[in-house]
Amino acid sequence: SFHTELKLRDTGVGKSSIVWRFVEDSFDPNINPTIGASFMTKTVQYQNELHKFLIWDTAGQERLLSCTAQSSSYSLSVLQETFSTLKNWVRELRQHGPPSIVVAIAGNKCDLTDVREVMERDAKDYADSIHAIFVETSAKNAININELFIEISRRLPSTD
Ligand code: GDP
Repeated sequence: SFHTELKLRDTGVGKSSIVWRFVEDSFDPNINPTIGASFMTKTVQYQNELHKFLIWDTAGQERLLSCTAQSSSYSLSVLQETFSTLKNWVRELRQHGPPSIVVAIAGNKCDLTDVREVMERDAKDYADSIHAIFVETSAKNAININELFIEISRRLPSTD
């Protein structure tokens, strides 16, 4: 098995909520940052492969989601609040991250139709231009959370 990391940055964008929805299939509107200082695992089956996500959601400025998967490549996902910080982080990632990397961008809180930081089309075009996964998610309403992680699994190269 190999090690995959998902770095989670920025507070308030819903990272803990996404992980909580993914692992526990529930939503806590008063999610406590200390809940986040925890370790969780979840196994996703994609075709005949099991991808086990090992998630450390720490309360610090930087969070790390680590995934051990039957894969020879790293996967790394970014969940960011604004477009410019997202672009800065992707640049940093490309420079300092593992050479073979899967980037996934989650446009979270898509249930909040009146509050929109980034147009879906712009985000999609940007994701395409850097060969990243893009999905609009809602941890609250359980929209595209499993799909996000399954898509990451799907992009991890098969071992055979
Ligand atoms: P983190 O700091 O990035 O881990 O963000 P949290 O998971 O702590 O969420 C920050 C706030 O956004 C909390 O009040 C959550 O209830 C709320 N939140 C998270 N995900 C969603 C979502 O999909 N929809 C809505 N409406 N609120 C969300």
